[in-house]
Amino acid sequence: MEKITKLQEDNINEYNYVMKVPLKHWALHAFKDYVKPNHVTNNISECFNVWIEQFRAQPALSILKGVRRKMMQRMAKRLKEGRNRASNIPHLVNKKLSERQDDWRFVSFLCASDKEFEVKDGVTFYIVNLDSKRCDYGLWELSGVPCKHTLAVLTGTRQQVENFIHPYLLKGAYIRTYNNIIHLIPDQSPWPNIQANLVLPPEKKRKPGMLKKNHKSAPDEPRKIKRSGGVKYSSCGA
Ligand SMILES: [Zn+2]
Repeated sequence: MEKITKLQEDNINEYNYVMKVPLKHWALHAFKDYVKPNHVTNNISECFNVWIEQFRAQPALSILKGVRRKMMQRMAKRLKEGRNRASNIPHLVNKKLSERQDDWRFVSFLCASDKEFEVKDGVTFYIVNLDSKRCDYGLWELSGVPCKHTLAVLTGTRQQVENFIHPYLLKGAYIRTYNNIIHLIPDQSPWPNIQANLVLPPEKKRKPGMLKKNHKSAPDEPRKIKRSGGVKYSSCGA
């Protein structure tokens, strides 16, 4: 909200442009709560383009083969990682829990039953319901990971946090995501040679300008380390 207010102050045209796009497409609070977003990337096509950069100058069939092999290896690697994980809670979810655990010590609660609690956070009261897995604050149902109010209740009532994390975010879902492997394709050299009309590729039409290879990095994308090429002096160009 602070960033949107700042954008409104800094550039009203950009603010008006953004606000024309429905909130459900870009504002976390307006997302449907069944999504459980762990991460949102707006430049996914640019990231994919860089990921396949080594194939991009190749013919279409070679690009497809390259992408298939890369995807195949990635899925196999992720499946192995998932199966080897000792904890049922993935690292990113654990990180979120640790961040929220730092805050819950300043929160207190009263019990209405063993499932319903009134939680005091500063001057505001929230209702936490463990049966429906909801807190008035809204973060728990939106993210699938218990908020600080719920964590205070779970710790105070000695309950397992893992039982209140959405199944989408646990080890089982991770393994199911990568469980369907990309199967190998036999080499085409033993295929029978068929006499038929030669199919030619379409005529190449290149648009004016250079092909863009650089892209805007996502905030959490690992950066490439550039090697220093020495010092250049502007006065003499040495
Ligand atoms: Zn809450």
